[in-house]
Amino acid sequence: MSGNNQWVYETVEEMGARFGIRVTDKLLEERTAYQHLEVYRTEHWGNLMLLDGVIMLSSVENFVYHEMMSHPALQSHAAPRNVVIIGGGDCGTLSEVLKHEEVESVMQIDIDEAVTRAAERFFPELVAHNDDPRASLHFEDGVAWMRNAPAGSVDVIIVDSTDPIGPGTGLFGPAFLADCHRVLRDDGIMVGQSESPFYHMPLMLDYHRAMAAAGFAERRSLLFPQPVYPGGSITGTLARKTGRLDEIRPLAGGVATRFYNTGLHRGLLEMPAFMREALGDV
Ligand code: SAM
Repeated sequence: MSGNNQWVYETVEEMGARFGIRVTDKLLEERTAYQHLEVYRTEHWGNLMLLDGVIMLSSVENFVYHEMMSHPALQSHAAPRNVVIIGGGDCGTLSEVLKHEEVESVMQIDIDEAVTRAAERFFPELVAHNDDPRASLHFEDGVAWMRNAPAGSVDVIIVDSTDPIGPGTGLFGPAFLADCHRVLRDDGIMVGQSESPFYHMPLMLDYHRAMAAAGFAERRSLLFPQPVYPGGSITGTLARKTGRLDEIRPLAGGVATRFYNTGLHRGLLEMPAFMREALGDV
C-alpha cells in the first residue's frame, strides 16, 4: 500500500461503530504465531500498530496510555521495588516504569516476541531503555506465568493486554485475577487494561466482580483518553489487596510526564457518576 488516501478502520460491530485513520504506507503485515500484526505510517499520528484488526497504539498519543498504565499503580504503592508487566510487548509501559528509581526490577511477559521486534523497528523511542539492567523481557503466556509464580512475590502487576480476544482472553478471566491476587505481596497493587465504559460496561462489571471475588479490597477504574481507540477513551482498573487506593505518593522530581499528575490521579479515582452507579457495590 502506498498513496495518501488509504484508510485503516477498526470496527466495533456490537456497538455499531467504526473509527478510521488515514494511512500513507503499510510498513509491516505479519501473521505471527498468535495474532495478525500490522504497522502503518500515517499522515498525522506517526506510526500505527494493529493486532487482529484492533488499534494498539500510535507514535503521537501512546504516552497517555503508557503513563496511565504505570504511574497510578506505582504512586499508590508505598515502595514499589519489583514490577511485573503482563503483555505490553511494545515496551511503552516498561519505559515508563523504568523512570522510577525506586523500582529495582521489571519483568515484561508478553506472549508474542513479534510485537517487540516490530516496536524495535517502528517505535524505537519505546524500546530505548530496554537495556536497563533492571529490565528483563520474557516471551511466554502471561496466564501460565502467573499461575506458576510464587505467592507473595511481586509489589506491582501491570496487565497491559490486548482486548479479550485471541491470546488476551485469559487475561480478563477470574482464574488469572485470582492468581494475580495470590502473587502480589500483602501491600501489592495491580492495574489492568479494562476497555471503555461506553463500549464494554458488562465486561468492566465482570472484571470488577472477578477482582472482588479474588479478594482485592478496593477497586477503581480510571477513565482516560485514548485518541486512536474507537470511542476515544479507555480505562485502567486499579486494585489493591489491603489499604486504600487514595494514599498517593507525589511523583518524584526526576519522573517526567506529559499526561499524568497527582491531582489528575486523585480526581480520576473518584470516577464519573455513571461508572460509580454501574460498578458501585460489586
Ligand atoms: N495499548 C494497547 C491497547 O490498545 O489495548 C495494548 C498494547 S500491548 C501491544 C498488548 C500486548 O498483549 C500484545 O503485545 C500481545 O502480544 C500481549 N498479549 C496478549 N495476550 C497475552 C497473553 N496471554 N500473555 C502475555 N501477553 C499477551
